Amino acid sequence: MEKKDLRCRSCGSKRLETVLDLGRMPLADALLTEEELDLPEAAYPLEAALCADCSLLQITETVPPEVLFCRKYPYYSSFSDELLRHSRENALELIASRGLNAKSLAVEIASNDGYLLKNFVEKEIPCLGIDPAEGPAEAAEKIGVPTICAFFTAEFANELAEMGKRADVIIANNVLAHVADVRGFLAGIRTLLREDGVASIEAPYVRDLIDNCEFDTIYHEHLCYFSATSADRLLRNNGLYLNSVKRIPIHGGSLRLYVGKKDEPDGAVRALLGEERDRGIDGMNYYNEFAAKVGSIKSGLTHMLSMLREQGCRIAAYGAAAKGATLINYAGLGKDLIDFVVDRNTHKQGRFMPGARIPISGPERLLLEQPDYCLILAWNFAEEIMNQQEEYRARGGKFILPIPEWKIA
Ligand SMILES: [Zn+2]
Repeated sequence: MEKKDLRCRSCGSKRLETVLDLGRMPLADALLTEEELDLPEAAYPLEAALCADCSLLQITETVPPEVLFCRKYPYYSSFSDELLRHSRENALELIASRGLNAKSLAVEIASNDGYLLKNFVEKEIPCLGIDPAEGPAEAAEKIGVPTICAFFTAEFANELAEMGKRADVIIANNVLAHVADVRGFLAGIRTLLREDGVASIEAPYVRDLIDNCEFDTIYHEHLCYFSATSADRLLRNNGLYLNSVKRIPIHGGSLRLYVGKKDEPDGAVRALLGEERDRGIDGMNYYNEFAAKVGSIKSGLTHMLSMLREQGCRIAAYGAAAKGATLINYAGLGKDLIDFVVDRNTHKQGRFMPGARIPISGPERLLLEQPDYCLILAWNFAEEIMNQQEEYRARGGKFILPIPEWKIA
């Protein structure tokens, strides 16, 4: 059904068709303090729609960045070992393939606490991080990663260019899908990138989202869900080109897009575009069963947890991340089913999950209280979490993975 007033974030078309409607949801990153438990919480519609013209899957609501941002609890990338390993490989590959040296410049947009750029610093390659979050930006400076605390926009890129800055490599991981003004963002990349430079951009892959039913990666902060097809169209419309591409396992399945100013697609791009065409990823048919599958995950999970509860089991959950908030709120998992959530991020401990208002503690609580089951909300880091919690399992604790269908691990 065509929606009035709404326009595609990529191509401006009005032909947006609903793929999944999760109803009104609280902001997934807006963890609550104890004092805030007495106050009402804002909720916003959360609906994913497909553009019939450029095939970009996107959410229809844009929560103002200042609301999203001021409610966001600081995320420090360095809390995840797997992300650190992944970033190091990303950096070393770019350094080798582009032959970067002391005269080069690597810029990272959304550089967080410098977890990726520190690999460039180690190799004495000049770099610059850009991140709007003060805490993480300060942490980056402390470990020797030059960082500017700002939002990356077309205007900001112009300022950098006027200062004579041009990048051989621009890295933008998990940020393109989060910006409301994607066209301005890409114009900024185009300005900052040298003629022969490359931008390495990572974003969750819509094919993994749909095929593995990863509906909990849909939340207000995460505006777009790319395929190679929709990314290729968006880039072309903004004077940039998808020249190589890789499927990578991080965050439940992502794409790494290698983007340049010249139109020189390699075999990997042609092959992936071909695969997507064969699967019909740019048409509504590909998305038709998704909503029904999400509904059955919800009912299966709540049924299973209710049964365990009736048997007198104690249940905890692991991972106070945005996707965890989406899952528990959409599935209606409250304090009646889940006793507490644990998370390694010390900034989140002592807070409460938005919506469901379940308290968040440090992971040590799993051993202190030894609940019978632990639902892994951060399933993208399931292996890492289960390895860290060997002792909990050795003592008889069991993990539950929610997606693509719940199973006990
Ligand atoms: Zn579009």
